[in-house]
Amino acid sequence: MEGLEEILLKIILQNPANGEVFYNLLRKETNKLKTSIPPKRELIIAYQKLIKNKRAVPNKHFEFLLRKAQIRTLSGVAVITSLVKPYNCPGNCVYCPSEARMPKSYLASEPAAARALGLKFNPYEQMRQRILMLEQNGHPTDKIEYIIKGGSWNAYPLKYQYWFILESFRACNELSSRTLRSKGCGDPKDSQKKTGIASSRSSETRNDSLEQLRQQLKIEQRKNETSKHRIIGLTLETRPDCVTPTTIVHMREQGCTRIELGLQAPDDKILKLVDRGHTVQQFKDAMLLLRQAGFKVDLHFMPDLPGTTAKHDVEMYKLLFSDPGLKPDMVKIYPCTVIKSAPLYKWYKAGKYKPYSEHKLFEALIAMKLATPRYCRISRLIRDIPENEISGGNIITNLRQHLATEMKNRGLKCQCLRCREIGHQQDLRLKTEDLRLFTDKYETTGGTEYFLSYEDKNRQVVFAFLRLRLPTVIASPARAGRGNPNVLNTSMGIASSPSGASRNDTAFIRELHTYGQLMTLKHEHIKALKQKNDVQHTGFGKKLVLEAEKIAKKNHYQKLSIISGVGVRGYYRKLGYKLEKTYMTKKIST
Ligand code: SF4
Ligand SMILES: [Zn+2]
Repeated sequence: MEGLEEILLKIILQNPANGEVFYNLLRKETNKLKTSIPPKRELIIAYQKLIKNKRAVPNKHFEFLLRKAQIRTLSGVAVITSLVKPYNCPGNCVYCPSEARMPKSYLASEPAAARALGLKFNPYEQMRQRILMLEQNGHPTDKIEYIIKGGSWNAYPLKYQYWFILESFRACNELSSRTLRSKGCGDPKDSQKKTGIASSRSSETRNDSLEQLRQQLKIEQRKNETSKHRIIGLTLETRPDCVTPTTIVHMREQGCTRIELGLQAPDDKILKLVDRGHTVQQFKDAMLLLRQAGFKVDLHFMPDLPGTTAKHDVEMYKLLFSDPGLKPDMVKIYPCTVIKSAPLYKWYKAGKYKPYSEHKLFEALIAMKLATPRYCRISRLIRDIPENEISGGNIITNLRQHLATEMKNRGLKCQCLRCREIGHQQDLRLKTEDLRLFTDKYETTGGTEYFLSYEDKNRQVVFAFLRLRLPTVIASPARAGRGNPNVLNTSMGIASSPSGASRNDTAFIRELHTYGQLMTLKHEHIKALKQKNDVQHTGFGKKLVLEAEKIAKKNHYQKLSIISGVGVRGYYRKLGYKLEKTYMTKKIST
């Protein structure tokens, strides 16, 4: 890859502290060139050339990081992101950029957005090209974590939603056929000329009815269960006021397992000031509905908004984990930035909005990291907005790296799930310790959550985890808003008594995550574990499911339902679960 030596030189000069920082710098630099991260062998060749040509001196730490990058990119799961077409969002948030040719809140200069724009937001081509690109670079593509971004999903017409997802599944399924794979990536018209095979993508404007699209999607999902490229998780972005029992039913049918949901600030005054268009209570109602339906929720939190202070931001962040109506599974912290195409730009120019200092922001972020409980994953700390787009607010590049270095210097550790995942650990010696099962139990509105995890005894390395929910109310909170709550209960397989009341006898597994392939890569380590404990590393998932069944049974639940990505259904079948509506379920009563 051209320029790879230059990229490595730039990274060497920044002296990355660990594998994660190295990976992020590499991603940032390759994004600038609108290309994927190169495979390890190319990185190593480029590094060796630098040494040979005396442009860099041998660096043991950097060589370690090169190896680490390989482990990370081979985590076994390919994360693929597609963008939906430009469309109106019901929101009018003052900080939100809007470009006519992009979905709301996205900038054409962001690498992923630019790729989508180039493909006219076609879902089939976005999926197909990413898979082929990843394959060309030596990454596995059998398990796909699929993320659909842009605006608010539920605000798009239903037909568009089903068509978009149907096309994404079709791309995965059809790429499994050798003929289509031979087309390679690039312009579909070019490959068509070479092979004489027409692309299988279909136009959004085709005449299928909504019902036909739904039925076709079911068929493609069935196929995907055994396809070479299986979608093991699907994330959609939406707004709290768009979450209703009816929209949840659709999202489940579409195969969604995780929701990205913007709150930004748990403070109604701030929400009003920035024109979010919903209240904190509406967010909590959405959270309850989603959790009751088994979804994982990634909450978006935005420090440095108008009307706040650094101190208040830390207080609000702490509230996320003390208020039973919140307590998200994941959180994205995106400090507010001023973008020219957002209304906030005018406020900024007029002196009506003044971001607080970088130093204050930095300290606030450290305090937030320290306030994050073990069950929550800080999935992002900053949004990848090109620097030249930012007129005000945070422009600290490599914020995560600065934070990591500073916290290390102060002897502080972030306990969030992400920082403790085995893939983000640098010190391999840690992992030869005994594994233990830990149970963190916490109360949320409408139910008790169990976070079960296999970790080392010091709780610094997480090998596998499971989220179990024991609901105490049925999935129909009084303030659920539009839509009929019974629609949701029926779709979840929750039975109604003759009086019409729904029984609450179903517990939910909302997430099961094992770092299987990572661990396979660390073969020596696993061998040591097996010898020491006779632990079958490949059995962590099963062990966790059995433990969840035990807890649910002990608490008198009759049934366990798993919100499962389409591509993981086969795994749960082996554990005695069957597909019921859109969930994998099992009777656990004796
Ligand atoms: S809800 Fe999201 S996409 Fe819509 S205006 Fe607000 S920030 Fe932008
Ligand atoms: Zn963390």
